[in-house]
Amino acid sequence: MRIGNKALIKELNRSHVVSIIRTHQPISRTQISKTLNLGLSTVTYITEELLEAGLVFEKGTAQSTGGRKATLLTFNEEYGYAFGVKIEESQVIVACTDLNAKVLRKHTFSFKKTTEPETLLHSIIQHIRQIILETNLSPNKLIGIGMASSGLINNKQGKVIRSTLLGWEQVEVRKKMRESFNAPIFIDNNVNAYTKAERQFGYGRGLSDFLCVSVGAGVGASLFSDGKVYGGHHGGAGEVGHMVIKQDGYRCHCGQKGCLEMHASERFLEQEGRQIKHLYPESPLHHTDFMFEQVTSAARSGDALAKGLLKKLGENLGIGVLNCINLFNPSAVIFIGEGLVAKDFFMTYTLETASDNFFSKAGCDVSFQVSMLGDDAWVQGAALQAIDHWFEHPINEESRLLLS
Ligand SMILES: [Zn+2]
Repeated sequence: MRIGNKALIKELNRSHVVSIIRTHQPISRTQISKTLNLGLSTVTYITEELLEAGLVFEKGTAQSTGGRKATLLTFNEEYGYAFGVKIEESQVIVACTDLNAKVLRKHTFSFKKTTEPETLLHSIIQHIRQIILETNLSPNKLIGIGMASSGLINNKQGKVIRSTLLGWEQVEVRKKMRESFNAPIFIDNNVNAYTKAERQFGYGRGLSDFLCVSVGAGVGASLFSDGKVYGGHHGGAGEVGHMVIKQDGYRCHCGQKGCLEMHASERFLEQEGRQIKHLYPESPLHHTDFMFEQVTSAARSGDALAKGLLKKLGENLGIGVLNCINLFNPSAVIFIGEGLVAKDFFMTYTLETASDNFFSKAGCDVSFQVSMLGDDAWVQGAALQAIDHWFEHPINEESRLLLS
């Protein structure tokens, strides 16, 4: 550490000024000076440099207290670009974004279950290169690539430790990607990535502690605390899908019995549905799969089997969420994921069960929200790993753009 080094202090001040402009834009120099408790002359000096580098723009004016108009500064989101990549069970979404994580261009491609990780990463690299060509972006303005997938991921080491959905074990994603790009590479669990988008654009904005709970093919969660997504020792914090909620419940693919995931995701609809469908001979679900889409559609037509399954799923999810609330004491729980297509049929039961938690009895309520962000939030959140890093670490070798 270069403690006390003048150059370092200057770099840190510059980094703080850029961050404030990014989060509070449009903002005047006086407001920046007040917010950061930095002298106006220092702020003016730094903003001149940033203007010259093209990282910020002057845009519009605001009435200042003295009656004089103050020029406002905004951040130039086209100064550089990032990539967000979401690896799903059978397809990959590769998106190029500006520095506000707005999607500029996107490719989606599918792959076979038997595809080797090396081959899939090679395809991702090809698509990133292709998008850079199509958008005419300068390769040296790439600030980083953020990736997201399901499973246990060590984001510090940049590797997938284990993803049962993909059948991956110990895949060194960062190492492989770094061979092709001279930019930092990030990989994290997809729910963690989405949580970053929720914090930036959704209900999580301005909250210091909140929990995202995903419902779909599985159940996952991510805790945003103290300004960042909490990772735990191996990066696996938030594996609440494998919290046991039923003694002698359904056997889970993880090896345990009675996991929340087996009782509150699509897996539950399938397990429980097959077991009890003989009691409902008229149900249209005898002729379809027990996926969220089909079960929701049956529930809409009034099918008792579908409605019963979703009610039970809702209650089970509520138990899981209640346990999470008692463990983390979040200010809000935000629900995300494709299972929300059925929310009209299960959410009431989830909230009823989860609201009856330890804190509510002490008058400390938790707010519940259903995410309003669209599907792009997954890749935007993935890209935000790289974007946030770039803004937070301008003194890194990797963030040379900010210093140039
Ligand atoms: Zn499990």
